[in-house]
Amino acid sequence: MEFECRRCHRSVKINAQRFEVFERMHYVCFHYEFEHGEFDVDEECTARGCPSASLAGGRDQVIETARSLALEAATGAAWTNAELHEYLDAFAAWLADSHGYYLNRRTVPPGNGWKVVNDALKAATVYE
Ligand SMILES: [Zn+2]
Ligand SMILES: [Zn+2]
Repeated sequence: MEFECRRCHRSVKINAQRFEVFERMHYVCFHYEFEHGEFDVDEECTARGCPSASLAGGRDQVIETARSLALEAATGAAWTNAELHEYLDAFAAWLADSHGYYLNRRTVPPGNGWKVVNDALKAATVYE
């Protein structure tokens, strides 16, 4: 069965099972049609999981977080994962379970990977 998006007229494949949920559109088309509001299409809107979030940057925030954690670590912060191997292990484990983390907070995972990495950097100090 072939589905055609009523907004962009391209074929809908990935979300074909949710074709009706998204009012016979791609998820992305649905978002821009009904959720994105007056925001520029290239700008992140206030809806969680906005597809434009990946364009929003966030690298500077990650750099700032990494530097601030390095300072904390250098001054003997009482982290659960104070050893480098423990920290990196926790970093990887947190990322592997990040969907669960956001769902537990009843929120959609950020569309911007930088935000996820930023959260992971902080969480890895205490994540077990
Ligand atoms: Zn579409
Ligand atoms: Zn949006």
